[in-house]
Amino acid sequence: MHDPVPASIAARSVRHVWHPCTQMKRHADSPPLEITRAEGVWLYDAQGRPIVDAISSWWVNLFGHNQPRIKAAIAAQMDRVEHVMLAGLTHAPVVELSERLAARTGLDHAHYASDGASATEIALKMSAHYWRNVGRPEKNRFIGLAGGYHGETVGALAVTDVALFRASYAPLVRIGATVPVPDVRAQPADVDEAEWVEQAAATLERHLQRHAGETAALIVEPLVQCAAGFVCYPAAYLARARALCTRYDVHLVADEIAVGMGRTGTLLACEQAGVKPDFVCLSKGLSGGYLPLSVVLTTDAVYGAFYDDDVARGFLHSHSYTGSALACAAALATLDLLDDARLRDNAALALRLDALFAPLHAHPRLRHARRRGLIWAWDVVDAPSDFSTRFAAEALQRGALLRPIGATLYCMPPYVIDEDAAVRLRDAALGALDAVAKW
Ligand SMILES: *Cc1c(COP(=O)(O)O)cnc(C)c1O
Repeated sequence: MHDPVPASIAARSVRHVWHPCTQMKRHADSPPLEITRAEGVWLYDAQGRPIVDAISSWWVNLFGHNQPRIKAAIAAQMDRVEHVMLAGLTHAPVVELSERLAARTGLDHAHYASDGASATEIALKMSAHYWRNVGRPEKNRFIGLAGGYHGETVGALAVTDVALFRASYAPLVRIGATVPVPDVRAQPADVDEAEWVEQAAATLERHLQRHAGETAALIVEPLVQCAAGFVCYPAAYLARARALCTRYDVHLVADEIAVGMGRTGTLLACEQAGVKPDFVCLSKGLSGGYLPLSVVLTTDAVYGAFYDDDVARGFLHSHSYTGSALACAAALATLDLLDDARLRDNAALALRLDALFAPLHAHPRLRHARRRGLIWAWDVVDAPSDFSTRFAAEALQRGALLRPIGATLYCMPPYVIDEDAAVRLRDAALGALDAVAKW
């Protein structure tokens, strides 16, 4: 009699873990990869094989894995208090984080949650509730940009214009209005950037002329719509959207969940348009990729409309882990790392990587090369329908975690990637492109 061979972690995972954003049948013949250790930009599988984390573990990791300062901050906080409810109680990390975010953004009031989608929910609810509190309850609809992605809870799906994520739940969702985005790839040759922005802004204005009376807010992903396939649009559009929202008395919500925390070269992407939104949502990189944390920052004007003797005029939304002390400690350490001149370093790093990525920019199967800060994207010419999964598997075999979105290949590395790792990811991408082309 032999003891049965113990099942691998990967096999056990498929048996009991329902993986996110995954058709589980795909794992019938290719199980998920077990990661046993991570250090800097490198992940290590059970055999100790290094894999460069070219997408910052779904865009959350800013300063690498096993980051000493973030770890030390969490450990120190663990010895004081790990978590207490934030209703009626408070603690230093959440206060300090709120003060620092206020100083950096000019938005003085911070409401916390755990994930990006919850931040979207909070911003939408707060906006509509604001209008109710000021005597305009009919302003309760939302506008999003074409291809927008703001999370996948039922409320956030109202403004998430990605059919694959929304179609199955459409009957549950109060779908918002969608206006065009001035995607730089679609700009006709005989139309200059200013005119291209103006065309999109004019459509937004026509919508507002008709519907501002029932609209609470416009929600946008500033500069780059990552989940839509890294759609980039000019900063000037944000400035136009801000002006129109102000003119038509509609809130502007900046969903900086993916692009905030320095990813596009400034702490917030909307700084590049000189724009101050009514709400800013942050998550993903906020805690450096360590713990779930999100925040919605807003203005004195919004806050003031809730400040009252009447409990029901308050914003009663809560989550059990709102303002987790451990997550806030991680976020404070992350802000410290960003403050250490990292944003300036990032600009130099981006240029060095741009040079290393020249073979990708020039690749005959890639077009529309684009970069904003430390986000690169390329569109694959004539990509087969299963390009994304095949490419990801080929890249993984070559030591790079790269997961194209549809026919868009992108890379969004931690801010500490060095040239060796960048070369690994470039060569893995080139090899995977060849392999997929040959199939
Ligand atoms: C990831 C993302 C979200 C949702 O965040 P989760 O933490 O996954 O819920 C919302 N908006 C944008 C722009 C995102 O990239």
